[in-house]
Amino acid sequence: IIASGMITGVLIIILAGYYLAKRAMVPIQKSWDRQQQFVADASHELRTPLAVVKSNAELMLRHPDHTIEEESIRVTNIARETRRMTKLVSDLLTLARSDANQSELKLSLVSVNELINAVAEQFVPLAEMEGITLQAEISEQLELTADRERLHQLLVILLDNAIKYTLPPGKIFITATKHGGNISVAVEDSGQGIPPEDLQRVFDRFFRSDKARSREKGGTGLGLAIAKWIIDKHGGKITVESKLGSGTKFSIMLPVKRVF
Ligand code: ADP
Repeated sequence: IIASGMITGVLIIILAGYYLAKRAMVPIQKSWDRQQQFVADASHELRTPLAVVKSNAELMLRHPDHTIEEESIRVTNIARETRRMTKLVSDLLTLARSDANQSELKLSLVSVNELINAVAEQFVPLAEMEGITLQAEISEQLELTADRERLHQLLVILLDNAIKYTLPPGKIFITATKHGGNISVAVEDSGQGIPPEDLQRVFDRFFRSDKARSREKGGTGLGLAIAKWIIDKHGGKITVESKLGSGTKFSIMLPVKRVF
């Protein structure tokens, strides 16, 4: 009786151990699957521009008698695809470092007014070229503890998108206000909007709602995934509202003081 009791006890311990180990493996397996998917998507994204560069370069080598105009088209294609790959590799590195927890925030006291004005000034010429007006409205002097470079990168992503997905004569508004212990910043455009079924997926890596326009404008499909990572890292929140055909609004909520 004692022996069979001991055997049952050992069996129960082995089964419980197996069950617990398997349960602990589920998140590891999921994270591994996510990484595998990320590598597969990244390789796929690099394959298209590489193929364009290769075919254009080969055509130039095979036909040295091409006219200047023909050569110029080939070189333009190569330059465009090289720019796309450079941006893609830079975005991939940002996300790979964030996954490996290798990106620490460099915190300092940041003036939201100065930051928004700097980014808006940077984008006014591009917006004007595209026939879009860009306006910033900040209610008061706003400051928070944050990584200035990262917040700059975040606003660049949102403004770049707002311009990319808005046709002339469109409008973009940037606003910033304080709500208790948080600062909220919104970037609103009068552009093409996002279909409701795609709204929550726009923060996913490589998800594109309008594939054709994203590719035409040199998008990587990684901008909003980086934006979300920056906001999460600051302990904030990013949300999106959109109406197809009338515009999109990205709202960010950031704590004035980050509690670590
Ligand atoms: P991309 O490089 O393709 O712009 P993002 O991650 O920045 O990638 O955005 C994901 C997708 O979300 C875009 O492909 C686009 O379809 C949609 N999107 C993002 N911002 C806007 C916007 N302001 N207006 C309409 N669609 C947008």
